[in-house]
Amino acid sequence: MPNDMSHSSDMALVLSRVSARFNDEKKNVLALKDISFSLPKGSFVSIIGPSGAGKSTLMRVILGLMEHESGEVVRDFERPAMVFQNYALFPWLNARDNVAFGLRMSGMDRKKREHIACEKLKEVGLERLEDHYPSQLSGGQRQRVGLARALAISPDLLIMDEPFSNLDTITSESLKADLLRIWRSYGMTILMVNHLIPDAIELSDQIIVMEAHPGRVEKTLSVDLPRPRDVRGPQFFKEVDVLTEVIRKVS
Ligand code: ADP
Ligand code: MG
Repeated sequence: MPNDMSHSSDMALVLSRVSARFNDEKKNVLALKDISFSLPKGSFVSIIGPSGAGKSTLMRVILGLMEHESGEVVRDFERPAMVFQNYALFPWLNARDNVAFGLRMSGMDRKKREHIACEKLKEVGLERLEDHYPSQLSGGQRQRVGLARALAISPDLLIMDEPFSNLDTITSESLKADLLRIWRSYGMTILMVNHLIPDAIELSDQIIVMEAHPGRVEKTLSVDLPRPRDVRGPQFFKEVDVLTEVIRKVS
């Protein structure tokens, strides 16, 4: 990932009026229109918005996987990693080899990458499942493998596209708790597409509310609740109400 910064900054990412378009023979879609926001280094930021709001497209633009049409993207991170909604694991590789895959591509020798893979699997609570294949793992375990794979490169920016949306409540509760612990220990920046209001409030320093057609930022809210957050307290419910009202107004 190129480092576009000529000086160091407190921001891992600054987007200024970024627009992006899909243009093929069938359709011409302005997927993102004038998106502006910043990610402070070490912060946890969530994006919430309806299907088609351009959330996944935005992740791709941030990672440089898709070109934007106008505006400016200033990146100050070196090791971005991504976790997907559908896990995106290789079915023919066991958990250890899935986690080690990127390290193998980078040319690291087998012993070292297997050591790192086992360490990362332990960090996400899968220490005894290294030899299991994705088909032998539950949805929650697969997502933990996806997280371990992302952690293998010790990312400074972790992008997560609806990582909990295929998981049941109990599974996602325990994964959220582990993610918060991992976030703190790595000191990394996390940008997460979130589909549940309470999850966004529980996890985030900042929440970006997007709207569709064209994909745009409607509002940016900061969540100032102290951590660890009491998800049953009155302040928490107040924040949930505020965000619910913002989303109700825009949709
Ligand atoms: P979200 O992740 O918020 O649901 P997406 O980023 O997937 O939204 O899509 C934003 C818009 O761009 C939608 O209108 C969608 O139909 C369109 N789009 C997404 N991917 C493509 C593509 N590969 N080709 C053409 N249009 C696309
Ligand atoms: Mg999406």
